[in-house]
Amino acid sequence: ALALPAAAYMLQDQEVHAAELERTFIAVKPDGVQRGLISEIISRFERKGYKLVGIKVVVPSKEFAGKHYHALKEKPFFNGLSEFLSSGPVVAMVWEGEGVITYGRKLIGATDPQKSEPGTIRGDLAVVVGRNIIHGSDGPETAKDEINLWFKPEELVSFTSNAEKWIYG
Ligand code: ADP
Repeated sequence: ALALPAAAYMLQDQEVHAAELERTFIAVKPDGVQRGLISEIISRFERKGYKLVGIKVVVPSKEFAGKHYHALKEKPFFNGLSEFLSSGPVVAMVWEGEGVITYGRKLIGATDPQKSEPGTIRGDLAVVVGRNIIHGSDGPETAKDEINLWFKPEELVSFTSNAEKWIYG
């Protein structure tokens, strides 16, 4: 009689653990902060069922912004982009949950707000590509690198929220 519940708990722990494994880096860029859209953006991730495990407000240096966007250093807009990201406060966050990297990008919408679907963050709240208010990691490797660039390990928390059994079943 004891074996079955023990196995069930193990499975449940594994599922909860798996749900906690995936993390992504999300940032409200200076335009989103200046426009008062921080809570709107947090709200969309929170209501979906994702878990906030790190957050801070920083003004990155241009050099730091360049590091963040290093993959784009050959692009003609790289300099302007780095300058823009360092032009004011950024809200840097780490969100956790099943599929959060890929689905986070869906919540955000296409890079160019003109091509973002209505219902997405950029589709609903932004108009041009150079002022698209939010950043989200585009894959598991980038997510890991960006989290490490913006956060020290001790700035992130690990916890199980009571809502998880209602979100993941
Ligand atoms: P995403 O942010 O959707 O991952 P990219 O990694 O391609 O998109 O680009 C990073 C950021 O660079 C974009 O969010 C946008 O702010 C800026 N950007 C991209 N393309 C252009 C462009 N053609 N002109 C100006 N800025 C751009």
